[in-house]
Amino acid sequence: MYLKRLEISGFKSFAQKTILDFSGGITAIVGPNGCGKSNIVDAIKWVMGEQSMKSVRGKKGEDLIFSGSDKKVRLSKARVSLFMDNSGGTAPIDFAEVVISRNIFRAGENEYHINNSKVRLKDVADILVKARMAQKSFSIINQGMADAILNYSPMERQLILEEAAGVREYQVKKEEAVRKIKNSKDNLGKVVSLMAEIAPHLGYLKNQARKAEKREEVAEELRNIQKIYFGAISKNLYKDKNQLNRKNKSIRDEIFRKSQELINLKKDLNKEEKNMFSGNTGVFGLQQKWNDLRIKIGEMERVAAKIEAKMEFISAAREPQILPVDIDYIKTRISQSLELLKRALDLQEVDEKNKILSEGLKMLDCLHSEIENGKIKKYLKEPEINPNLLEEKKELESRIAKLSLESREIQTNIAETQSQELKEKAKFFEMERRVKAIEDEIGKNKDALRDLDIEEAKISMRLGDIEKEIADSGMDIQEIIKADIKIPELFNQDDSEREIRRLKVRLDEIGSIDQATIREFHETDQRYQFLEKESGDLTGSIFSLKNVINELEEKIRKSFNEYFSVINNEFNNYFRLIFGGGRASLLRKTIANQISDGDNAIGDNNAENDNANREGVDISAMLPGKKIKDLSLFSGGERSLTAVALLFAIIASASPPFLVLDEIDAALDEDNSQKFGKILQELSKKTQFILITHNRETMKLADILYGVTMDEGVSRVLSLKLV
Ligand code: ATP
Repeated sequence: MYLKRLEISGFKSFAQKTILDFSGGITAIVGPNGCGKSNIVDAIKWVMGEQSMKSVRGKKGEDLIFSGSDKKVRLSKARVSLFMDNSGGTAPIDFAEVVISRNIFRAGENEYHINNSKVRLKDVADILVKARMAQKSFSIINQGMADAILNYSPMERQLILEEAAGVREYQVKKEEAVRKIKNSKDNLGKVVSLMAEIAPHLGYLKNQARKAEKREEVAEELRNIQKIYFGAISKNLYKDKNQLNRKNKSIRDEIFRKSQELINLKKDLNKEEKNMFSGNTGVFGLQQKWNDLRIKIGEMERVAAKIEAKMEFISAAREPQILPVDIDYIKTRISQSLELLKRALDLQEVDEKNKILSEGLKMLDCLHSEIENGKIKKYLKEPEINPNLLEEKKELESRIAKLSLESREIQTNIAETQSQELKEKAKFFEMERRVKAIEDEIGKNKDALRDLDIEEAKISMRLGDIEKEIADSGMDIQEIIKADIKIPELFNQDDSEREIRRLKVRLDEIGSIDQATIREFHETDQRYQFLEKESGDLTGSIFSLKNVINELEEKIRKSFNEYFSVINNEFNNYFRLIFGGGRASLLRKTIANQISDGDNAIGDNNAENDNANREGVDISAMLPGKKIKDLSLFSGGERSLTAVALLFAIIASASPPFLVLDEIDAALDEDNSQKFGKILQELSKKTQFILITHNRETMKLADILYGVTMDEGVSRVLSLKLV
């Protein structure tokens, strides 16, 4: 891979697009002081990704853009493109020509392109490292830098040699790995300290979460028992309540039925009562009628007696024949009197009683006087009496007989009516007894209803208590009823209540745990687990990075060791060739880790190395015939030549694809210039050279010679000689 062409446009003094084609061998660029030769070197460095403004001799980005002259206005953008031959496929890109371009704008933005595709700086650096063209250290050697190689620190020199040895790629990887390890370690430290910070609180939260879990277990157990308990109790209560309601209804129905019966019965009773005591009807009426009849009969008998007395008087002369007493008549009268007396005995009403009693007595008295007076004698032979009188008497007797018949009928009627009334009375009393019995039954039913109401109130109260208990337990009675909970056969209310009390006490012991604490536990636990995983990942990646570093170090060590002995040899050879004798060598040394203050570009020497110590390279040289070893005591020319010897040794042993040397031959005298030229020619077989020079000997060697001029602040390039 070699540089084919450089296109500069708007960069520093190159206001116009300027093209420099390079040969595969030596290209020399010449021109007067200040014409812009070094600007070309800056352009090469810059397009290869230089990050240090100092290195391209500027302070800020816009210093790199053409700033204008008397005749030409300043530009807003600078662009440099480097064309490289990749026909050998050194760069990992599928093109025979690789073009790296870099733009800068006044606002400060930088753009990189590879074959016109926008890329990152890292992509440019990668391609160059692969092609061993890293714009680092010795690929571009500035004016005075050759001398500076002697003044470099051993560590910086080590870097230059590493690059030359081709181990820089590994070194960069190693540095990257070291950086990653450092980052991983930093992160691990943070992770571990975070974990340590979280751990005690997490412990507390875990404890709370465990408590909450335990609490939930107990609460679940409690809920299950309560469900069964509440289910059983409420089910029983509802069953009892329904039973009571049914009972209540049947009692009310019974009361209703009995009340209806009672109403009807009372109606009948009233009717019966009215019948029993309704004035002239019944025994009393008949008695009255009979009495009236008896009085009438009595009166008629008295009239008849008077008529008889009259008739007796008429037949006074005639000897009366005494006939036996009319027994039938006496019997009838006595039984009538007895009847009256008996009846009087049965009567309650005092006046009535007395009246009947006096009638009976009167009847007896009358009979007595009849017997005394002999009125009840019968005559065998009727005296001859006035026919009218006889007629009257007959009439009377017939009427008396008729009335007596009527009286007997009434008597019979009274007896019948009396027995009828007795029957009715019995019926009445029976009805009264029935009324009483029904009233008693209704009363009893009402008592039972009252008892049921009390019972129902008790059940309702108990249901209310249970509902409250259920609600207090965060449940719903309707759900419990609907849930149709299976009540175990061995369910025992006392045992359940005891168990519920025990579990509630257990819950109190555990105490309540805030939900926010549980959430916090989950979040913190998740975070802790994440950190744990992160810590594991980081430890794992540190471990594998360490392995990578060990492998890389081994590779570097091996390659570098091989290269180092070659370069050491070459250095001594070129030194002896240039000085015609003497001795020069490079010495490896281990330096305690320190931060380089080098003005670094892509490579980051400031990366903290995992190793405590770093490698460095010292220079030891002894001029022919002199004993001085200390380079600081060499003359300017001697130092330049020693530097050139070292440069050549590097170039010879590393064969870099190209090398830009900016006036490193300035301090050489003619003799040494010739020696320099010869060596250069030899080396140009393997390395492409771009030389900025004022040295005629060097110019002579060039395959292509460019002359740079400056006209009114603008640099121009002229091709002076073609191969
Ligand atoms: P010498 O032989 O003395 O080392 P040289 O040929 O290497 O000189 P350079 O250093 O390349 O010269 O060029 C310096 C010139 O470039 C100066 O004249 C300077 O004014 C000009 N220059 C630098 N930056 C800019 C810029 N941004 N715009 C215009 N001109 C610039």
